[in-house]
Amino acid sequence: MSDSPLVIGKYSLGMGDRFAHEAEAQLAACVAARRLGVEIVPVWNKSNREHNIIGSEPTSTRAAADAAVKSLGWTAPYFLDADHIGLKTVDRFVGVSDFFTIDVADFIAQPADPAAVKAFVDRHPELVGTLTLAGIDRPFTTTRADVERTAAKFLLAVQEAGKVYRHIVSVKGVGRFVPEISMDETDSPQTPPELLVILAAIADEGVPIQTIAPKFTGRFNKGVDYVGDLAQFEREFNDDLCVIAHAVKQYGLPANLKLSVHSGSDKFSIYPAIRRALAKHGAGVHVKTAGTTWLEEVIGLAEAGGAGLALAKEIYAEALSHEDELCQPYATVIDIDPSKLPAAAVVNGWTGEQFVGALRHDQKNPLYNAHIRQLIHVGFKVAAKMGPRYLDQLKACRESCARNVTGNLLERHIRPLFL
Ligand SMILES: [Zn+2]
Repeated sequence: MSDSPLVIGKYSLGMGDRFAHEAEAQLAACVAARRLGVEIVPVWNKSNREHNIIGSEPTSTRAAADAAVKSLGWTAPYFLDADHIGLKTVDRFVGVSDFFTIDVADFIAQPADPAAVKAFVDRHPELVGTLTLAGIDRPFTTTRADVERTAAKFLLAVQEAGKVYRHIVSVKGVGRFVPEISMDETDSPQTPPELLVILAAIADEGVPIQTIAPKFTGRFNKGVDYVGDLAQFEREFNDDLCVIAHAVKQYGLPANLKLSVHSGSDKFSIYPAIRRALAKHGAGVHVKTAGTTWLEEVIGLAEAGGAGLALAKEIYAEALSHEDELCQPYATVIDIDPSKLPAAAVVNGWTGEQFVGALRHDQKNPLYNAHIRQLIHVGFKVAAKMGPRYLDQLKACRESCARNVTGNLLERHIRPLFL
């Protein structure tokens, strides 16, 4: 093992592989991108919640990633992301992961110690007043009370991130992993001026983050397109990039620090804005995807016909009859209109083409149904319960599953963002 610290490259793609059967098909998308001239660092991510629902261990993700890398002869870096971990959940990941998404969203708005808030604001007079940042035409104007309010809201979360970071360092050592801090799973988005305060606090806490996942404006529902004000998103995304560039210089954060876009799959309408912003600022980005690959597995099963299609229909029927239970953990990140979900009997009568048309994320296809797509997205527990019956079909339908997994990442994600 070399002693140089682990540094993540400019463009990286988080990929979730719920059942640990698609790593090679996912990596094939990065191989193709490399041939087309863009280096995309693959990062396999799986959250503690996902492992618990499926009944898997992080060692299985490591084994699948390493096998894919060996099989395709991938010689560039790749990472394993312990996704959305905290102090209570990090330990099962520490041995195998080299990227940690430290999730402190639950600590946002929990009141920080007033003395710590005061000390922070005293230490950072540069955050008060009129701040002109390179690349942002309208300066930020902040009062001491604004900075105090922001610090009071986020300081405890940043301190918690410091605890988790130092715990991982105590096991793995400094520079042996890529730290990310995520604040996306919360109610309100963080504005660019808030991001600046957060980054100052992270630097004070001594966490050398390489990626940061704020909550952006608008809705990032699971597996479907962005819903929100495109112009506002583009403005804030550009401002965030300028804030990061500023914070890197001002507070000595790692030079490769970049934004991490969570629930980043399938947000086709904002990809042009992200692409423009990256080009304009010469910035990198981490785009995290997860369930979009599981949806491609179900599409692959349906496309294969026969027993594969029958199993895909069974997954839909089961998901429909457990809708409330499956949706509850994801309530804030889905928008399903139950009246748009056809009865199981209707779907059972569909051809493979109808099923695939409803599920595949092609908004131009009149058969496309975003409600079915979101329900299946959160319905992976149904397949987990099927156990070997599901996994055997994945093997039987390998060609169509792999083709859809690779094609989805390459054509609908990597190409519009990076190629
Ligand atoms: Zn997230």
